[in-house]
Parts: sequence; C-alpha cells; structure tokens
Amino acid sequence: MADLRWIPPSGPAVRLAMPPPSAPYAEVPEPCSCGCDVVAGRDPVEDHDTITSRAWCPVCEAARGVLVVRVSTIFGLQEDRAVTDGPWRVY
Ligand SMILES: [Zn+2]
Repeated sequence: MADLRWIPPSGPAVRLAMPPPSAPYAEVPEPCSCGCDVVAGRDPVEDHDTITSRAWCPVCEAARGVLVVRVSTIFGLQEDRAVTDGPWRVY
C-alpha cells in the first residue's frame, strides 16, 4: 500500500486518504485562499520508495506545499516497474 502525505507551506505533514489512481487531485484538509480544497501534484521526482511532487491549487495556481507518496516496495520503484513491465512477465 502507498502512503500519501501533504506538507503544507505553513505546517507539518498531514496524512491524506489515497485518491483513486485516476484521480487528478488529492483532497486536503486546509483549503486554499481561493476556497479550493484539493491540490494537484506536478513535477514528480522519484526516489527509492517515494514520489515527491510540488502541490498546486488547480483553480488559482497557488503553490500549496509538497505531496509525498511513499510506496511499500521491497525492490524500489525502478526495480518494481522493471519487474512488472518487463518482457519476462509471466501470467
Ligand atoms: Zn487556490
């Protein structure tokens, strides 16, 4: 399972409910100054087991801190992808 955290510009990290994979936005408990209560992730950067994105307000484009997704993985994101997408995948 993956763990989603939002680090607002003003405060400590907040754990968020993981949105469905196709959802473009994540709901956050603290609305933007424009009233919007979701953020969009941009410019994801992958580390061994985390994906860090800049969080943006999809309405007014304000910077809303950082989104961090930590994935439970034994091998790391790169290796997991290599395994699941590899030509040797066995069904
Ligand atoms: Zn906004």
